[in-house]
Amino acid sequence: MIARLELRCTSCGRALPGAGGTQFLCPSCGEVTIGRCARCRDQSVKFRCPKCEFEGP
Ligand SMILES: [Zn+2]
Ligand SMILES: [Zn+2]
Repeated sequence: MIARLELRCTSCGRALPGAGGTQFLCPSCGEVTIGRCARCRDQSVKFRCPKCEFEGP
């Protein structure tokens, strides 16, 4: 069961309106939803899982 938190870009903290943004489960622990806004995705900004501290592009 996935907790439904307000979805925000994990990298820059901006709220994700959806347009161009993406969300996926942490590839490491699979328990945290990672959000990325269009800008951070475009610039390949790293994200970090707040739970397991996995970092990825
Ligand atoms: Zn962002
Ligand atoms: Zn994780």
